[in-house]
Amino acid sequence: MSILTENIAQVRRRIEAAARTSQRPPQAIGLLAVSKTWPAESISNAHAAGLTHMGENYLQEARAKQAQLSHLPLVWHFLGNIQSNKTREVAAHFDWVHAVDRLKIAQRLSEQRPAGMQPLNICLQVNISNEASKSGCSPQQLPQLAQAVEKLDNVRLRGLMVIPQPSDDVEEQRAAFRQTRMLLEQTNALLQTPMDTLSMGMSSDLEAAIAEGATWVRVGTAIFGTRTP
Ligand SMILES: *Cc1c(COP(=O)(O)O)cnc(C)c1O
Repeated sequence: MSILTENIAQVRRRIEAAARTSQRPPQAIGLLAVSKTWPAESISNAHAAGLTHMGENYLQEARAKQAQLSHLPLVWHFLGNIQSNKTREVAAHFDWVHAVDRLKIAQRLSEQRPAGMQPLNICLQVNISNEASKSGCSPQQLPQLAQAVEKLDNVRLRGLMVIPQPSDDVEEQRAAFRQTRMLLEQTNALLQTPMDTLSMGMSSDLEAAIAEGATWVRVGTAIFGTRTP
C-alpha cells in the first residue's frame, strides 16, 4: 500500500472511531481532502484511493489542477478567503465555498453563478475564537448575514465553517466546536430552510469536531503529509 492509501485508511479509521464514540453514523461525516500546495498527481492518487471531494485555498493553483484533472469526477470546494475580483471564477468552477463572511461576496457569487448549474453550496465562516487576525463574521453578525444569504437565488446556504484557535486540549477544542453547533441551531430557528452542514475539524482536531457534530472534516496534512512551502 502506498503512503497515501495508508494515510487515507488511517484518517477513515479515526473518523469511524470518533463517530462510534459519539453514536453518530460514520456516513454523516464527509471527508474533504485539502490538497492545497500538492500537485495534481497527488489529487489523482487520492481519487484512486476513494476520495472525491477536494478542497483548495488558492484560486490560480486550483484552476491549474482542475484543468489537469478534468477527466475525473471530482467535487471541488473553495476554502480560501475570496476577494470580490475572484468571485466570478469561483462561482463558475466550484461546487462548495466554505469561507463566505460578508453579504457582498455571497451576492456576487449568486449573481455570477452560471445559468444551468446547481445553486452554489455556501458555508458562512464564523470567527469563533474571536481572533483579531482571523477572517469570519462575528457570532453577533451571523443571524443577519444568514437571513440575507438565504434569500439569494443561486446559492444555497448549507452551514457554518470554523477554524478555531489551535489547542492541544481536547476539552478546549470541543468547546469551540460546541459553540459553533449551538450557533447553527440558534440561527436555524430564524431561517426558512435549516442549515445542515458543520464544516469543522482538521488533521489535529477532527475527533473533537466529530464529537460536536461536524459533517465535513477538512483534512490536509494527515492525508498528504506535511506541507513544505
Ligand atoms: C489547510 C487547511 C485545512 C487542512 O489543515 P490540516 O491541518 O493540514 O489538516 C483545513 N481547512 C482550511 C480552511 C485550510 O486552509
